[in-house]
Amino acid sequence: MPDYLDEVLDSLRDDTSGANADYIPELAEADPEPFGMALTTTLGRTYAAGDADTEFSIQSISKPFAYAAAIIDRGLDRVLDVVGVEPSGEAFNELSLEGETHRPKNPMINAGAITTHSLLVGAEAGQDERVDRALAFFSRLAGRDLRVDERVCASELASAHRNLALAYMLRTYGILDGDVPAVVEGYTRQCSILVSVRDLSVMAATLATGGIQPVTGERIMEPAVARHVMAVMAAAGMYDAAGDWLTRVGIPAKSGVAGGIVGVLPDRVGIGTFSPRLDSHGNSQRGRRAFERLSRDMGMHLFASD
Ligand code: GLN
Repeated sequence: MPDYLDEVLDSLRDDTSGANADYIPELAEADPEPFGMALTTTLGRTYAAGDADTEFSIQSISKPFAYAAAIIDRGLDRVLDVVGVEPSGEAFNELSLEGETHRPKNPMINAGAITTHSLLVGAEAGQDERVDRALAFFSRLAGRDLRVDERVCASELASAHRNLALAYMLRTYGILDGDVPAVVEGYTRQCSILVSVRDLSVMAATLATGGIQPVTGERIMEPAVARHVMAVMAAAGMYDAAGDWLTRVGIPAKSGVAGGIVGVLPDRVGIGTFSPRLDSHGNSQRGRRAFERLSRDMGMHLFASD
């Protein structure tokens, strides 16, 4: 297995197409070369290759995990009152609201994820409690203490005009309550939590088992929560490329602008990849190709019958 993963990375290493995300200065300046991949089985065994311990900011990959925490904290009905589960077919930073309810279409786009973050802990919680909740929850999923990259966070906050605009719109529709800048800052801190592909594979494997962290053995969420989160990842995790991804790769997944991708195959495996250059949909170019290879070579397509 390790040889096979090395071979997959080697076969894709000279694909330098795409570019780092440019709207967050710290990400634009990051080294574009690291390339790593890790798989963790539902029995808790991890296989890793390349830059498997390099840390990068989780960014939008935080969204499905924060969504799980919000469902645990507030109940699914409360979450569904303010965030939908429909694919938007649009870019991650579009407003994409449903017509009548004004709910963001899903929790994987920024509008839905900012709303999801605002739900963490409870109605009375402040910014620090929400961020602490995300950090502690992600740490339990990864099985180690994670931390926020303050430089990435400050860099994004200095130009977070678009997320602030989205959040103020949501506030006018009554979807989001409270102090808008504090919610956006908390969400940005959540996005700035540092992970490795090894962490991502374990976090995803916890969804694959139906909520039991396969290394520590801790039950972190109920099977119904894991199932719901994986289904929304399949429908909307790859933004405007979600349909293409589901047909071609067939693994529920979520990408982040720092270059990570997390994927989960129910009952089988959690997968993490990292390579900073992004394609035109904002998904990691080499990461996408690595997932395509794994899906093909290892029969990982969710809908494969052979
Ligand atoms: N923090 C980023 C943002 O809100 C996350 C986007 C992403 O990873 N696609 O713009």
